[in-house]
Amino acid sequence: MFDIVIIGGGHAGVEAAYMASQFNLKIAIITLPNVGIASAPCNPSIGGVGKGQVVREIDCLGGIMGKLADLAGIQFRTLNESKGYAVQSTRVQIDKVRYSINAEEQLSKIKNIFIIKEEVLGISGSDDMYSVRTTCSTWNTKKIIITIGTFLSGKMHTGLEQTIGGREGVSHTDTLSDFFRDIKMVAGRFKTGTPARINKQSIEYSLLEEQRSDSHVESFHVLHGTNERFLEQKSCYLTYTNSETMRIIRDNKERSPLFNGQIDGVGARYCPSIEDKAYRYPDKDIHHVFIEPESHELNTVYPSGISTSLPRDIQDQVLSSIAGLKKSKIEVYGYAVEYDVIDTTRLGRTLEHKDKKGLYFAGQVNGTSGYEEAAGQGLVAGINAALSNIGKKEFILDRDESYIGVMIEDLVSNIRDEPYRLFTARCENRLYIREDNALLRMYPYRKSLGLAMNIDNYGANYVKAFKLYLNIITSTYLSTGHKFLLDNKINVLRRTSLAEILKQSSLEPIITLEKYFNYVGIDCDLRLVRTLAVTMKYDGYIAKANSHLEKLNKLNKHKINWEDLMASENISFECKQRIERIKPETFGQIKLMEGIRPASLAAIAGTLL
Ligand SMILES: Cc1cc2nc3c(=O)[nH]c(=O)nc-3n(C[C@H](O)[C@H](O)[C@H](O)COP(=O)(O)OP(=O)(O)OC[C@H]3O[C@@H](n4cnc5c(N)ncnc54)[C@H](O)[C@@H]3O)c2cc1C
Repeated sequence: MFDIVIIGGGHAGVEAAYMASQFNLKIAIITLPNVGIASAPCNPSIGGVGKGQVVREIDCLGGIMGKLADLAGIQFRTLNESKGYAVQSTRVQIDKVRYSINAEEQLSKIKNIFIIKEEVLGISGSDDMYSVRTTCSTWNTKKIIITIGTFLSGKMHTGLEQTIGGREGVSHTDTLSDFFRDIKMVAGRFKTGTPARINKQSIEYSLLEEQRSDSHVESFHVLHGTNERFLEQKSCYLTYTNSETMRIIRDNKERSPLFNGQIDGVGARYCPSIEDKAYRYPDKDIHHVFIEPESHELNTVYPSGISTSLPRDIQDQVLSSIAGLKKSKIEVYGYAVEYDVIDTTRLGRTLEHKDKKGLYFAGQVNGTSGYEEAAGQGLVAGINAALSNIGKKEFILDRDESYIGVMIEDLVSNIRDEPYRLFTARCENRLYIREDNALLRMYPYRKSLGLAMNIDNYGANYVKAFKLYLNIITSTYLSTGHKFLLDNKINVLRRTSLAEILKQSSLEPIITLEKYFNYVGIDCDLRLVRTLAVTMKYDGYIAKANSHLEKLNKLNKHKINWEDLMASENISFECKQRIERIKPETFGQIKLMEGIRPASLAAIAGTLL
C-alpha cells in the first residue's frame, strides 16, 4: 500500500514526488516506460519571464527544478535586463538528455520513492482508498496525483498524418479517458506544437548572429555558487524568416491542420505557431528564429519560434528558405498535439478534487502550458497530498506572495478557454514578487512546513542578515563631503539616509550598495546585496501599492460560505449557478470568476463589510 501514487513522471510528477517524499511517506511514480523522466518535448530551457520566478519559488520551498536546471545548464541568460528589476527573469538553456538522466538519478536515490515504469490502465476507488491498475499489477494507495500532461486522448498532427499519442515517438492508446469521462472532469481540448529538430552539422553558423551566455547570471539553486556552471556552455544563434518563408506557408494554407479544420484544440495565444504568425499577420514577414542547443549528447538543435504542423515537404521548404538553414537536414519533423484538459474549477487551492477526497491533479492536464507551471502545481499537490496523509493543515500559497499562488488561484477560479501560461502581468504585486527576494518570500512558508533540509541554515541566516543590513541601510545617514559620496561622485543636498541615496535615479542601486559595503568593510553575500538594493529602490512604490493591496486583500481574503449566497435575493440566478459550480472559498476567488455581474459582486461585498 502506498501513501501517494503519482501518475506521470513529467515535470509536475517529479516535483510532486520530490516534495511528498520529504514527509517520510511511501511514494510511487508510475510512468510510461518509453517516456523519459522530466523530459522536455519542446523548448530545451527552464525559466523565462514569470517562469524564472516560479523556479526560484520552487527551489526555496525545497523543490528540485532549480537544482536540475543548474546541473544541466548550457547557457544562462537574464531576460528583460533593460527593463525594471521586478520583471527580470532567469532563463537556462538545458541539456535535455542530462536533465532527464539527473532527474531520474536524484529520485532513484530517495529510498521512499518507487519508480514504476508501466502504463496505468485504470483507476478505481474513492475517498483515500484507491487502486491503480497497470499493465503488470494493481497498486493500492491512499492518495493519487494525476499528472499525465498531453496524454489524455492525445492526437498528433503533421500535415494530414495523424497519430494517437501524447508526444512524438510515443504513440499509445489512451487508457485513462474512460476514468475521466466517469468522473466528468474533461472541460475542453487544447493543442500545442513544436518545431522540427535540425541536424546541427547542417547549419551554416557563419550566417547567423551568435548569442553567448550572459556573463553574470545567478544560479537557480540557492546553494549553488553565483555563476557556478556544471557543463560546458554553448551559444545560441539568431536568424530570421523572410518574405519567401512566409509565402511558402501562406500558399499552403489548405494543407495546414491548424487552418483546414483538422485540429479543433485551442492553442496558447502567447506561443503561436509559424502558421499562426503567417496567416494572422499577413503584413509581417520577418520573425526571429533562435537556434538553441538541445544537448551535448544529441546531434540536433531546436529552432525556437517556428513551431509547426505543416506537412513534411512544406517544412523542408520553409527551413531551406531561411538564412543559415538553406542546407539544413531535418532529423525530426515538427508536429502539433491535441489533448483533453480537465475542469480545474472542481479543484480546491490544494489541487485536490472538491468532491473526491484524495484525488489531486497537476500540470498540463490542468490546462496549463510549460514545464515551470507544471512543476509549481506538482509542488503544491505533492505537499498537500502529504499533509493530508499525516492529518496536517493544508498548504496554500497566497497570490500576493508568489507566482505559484497567482497561478493556482487563477486556475481554480475559472474554466480555461486557452492554455494558461504565467507572465508578469498576471501578478498584481509584481514589484514585490521578484526573483531576487524569492527566499525571503518563501522561507516562512517552508519553515511552517516543518521540513528539515539542506537549505535551512542558509535560509535562516539569509532572513536574519536581511533584517540586520536593512536596519543599517535605513539608519545610516551621510552628509555632503562624506568621503564615500565624494569618491563615488554622489550628490546630496543635505544629510541623507543611505536608503534614500539608493533610490537616486542616476545611481545603479546594486553597484552603489556593494561599493558602500566594501567601503565600510561589510562582507555581504552578493545575492543579499541585490535583494537589499532592489528592495530599497522599490520601497516607496511597494509601500504605496501595499496600502492599496492591503485594503483590497482584506476583502479578497474574506472567507465566504458559498451555500449562504444561494439564499440571497440580490444575486442573479446565472451568478448563483456559476457560484454553485465553482464553490469559491473567498471573495477574491468570486471576483476572478467569469460571468459574475458587478451588481451581484456588490451585493456579495455588501454582506462582508
Ligand atoms: C509537442 C509539445 C509541444 C510543447 N510546446 C511547449 C512550448 O512551446 N512551451 C512550453 O512551455 N511548453 C510546451 N509543451 C508543454 C510542456 O511539455 C509541458 O507543459 C510540460 O512537460 C508538462 O508537464 P507535465 O508534468 O504536466 O506533463 P508531461 O511532461 O507531459 O508528463 C506527463 C507524464 O505522464 C505520463 N503518462 C501519461 N499517460 C500515462 C499513463 N496512462 N500511465 C502512466 N504514465 C502516463 C508520461 O509518461 C509522462 O511522463 C509542449 C508539449 C508538447 C508535447
